[in-house]
Amino acid sequence: MRLIRFGAPGAEKPGILDKTGTRRDVSASGLDYDHHFLGGNGLDQLQKWLDANDCPEVSEEERLGPPLVNPSKIVCVGLNYAQHAAESGMDVPGEPVLFFKATSAICGPNDPVIIPKKSEKTDWEIELGVVIGKEASYVSKEQAMDHVAGYLVHNDYSERAFQLEQGGQWVKGKSCDTFAPIGPALVTRDEVADPHNLRLWLKVNGEMMQDSNTSDLVFDIPHLVSYISQYMRLLPGDIISTGTPFGVGLGLNPPRYLKHGDSIELGIEGLGSCRQTAIAYEKLTESA
Ligand code: ZN
Repeated sequence: MRLIRFGAPGAEKPGILDKTGTRRDVSASGLDYDHHFLGGNGLDQLQKWLDANDCPEVSEEERLGPPLVNPSKIVCVGLNYAQHAAESGMDVPGEPVLFFKATSAICGPNDPVIIPKKSEKTDWEIELGVVIGKEASYVSKEQAMDHVAGYLVHNDYSERAFQLEQGGQWVKGKSCDTFAPIGPALVTRDEVADPHNLRLWLKVNGEMMQDSNTSDLVFDIPHLVSYISQYMRLLPGDIISTGTPFGVGLGLNPPRYLKHGDSIELGIEGLGSCRQTAIAYEKLTESA
């Protein structure tokens, strides 16, 4: 199933993309894609409801919101593609590098990205996001995939000066408002034959900047779910962002960062694509 949420920010309704890719409103089911839905039998309930009901079409003009409701955490994995570690001037780590991203950074897949106040180094990172279904605590690699609900596209926006030049942990450069657009859909696990063989790409103003494949992940999804679950309980809806491949602005010579008006388009094979336009924080407040 391909789960979407649509409508104004904070007032999104649940929907699906049907087999033809048409958006359908399923809000009359009374379900929404929260902790209970993802951790319980929500998908079965939704399927039963769909079998018995017709649901209205949703206009392509409608805004898409994040395709799930308020996850408890976003756990990000750093340097999980060998070539990206090299462009960042870092070694491939012996164990997954973990860091958090504030959930308040989450926004819809096509919402504008706000270049934060005093930012000069806002950068892009296409990533495969893994959404947890069943709670995971101390799970083995063999069991790990049973705890995955599905997948989505995530742009792990990163302010490199906040992240790398201002001391402390990476979280400061990862958590600004709008730094976690997710979607367009939460694609359930059964729809993705091999999550370790998906092309992922990102363009800035039409120019291909990142073009890689999840087959290049250093630590694969079972490894990550199992590993993270040794340190914290993963709850339904939690997102593991699996790391970005080669081709971020930081790695260019000279480095290149986003500016007001830039268009960022990104997608993952089988999961869909999305587009964000960069808006400078200062321009937002000018027009407000
Ligand atoms: Zn990242």
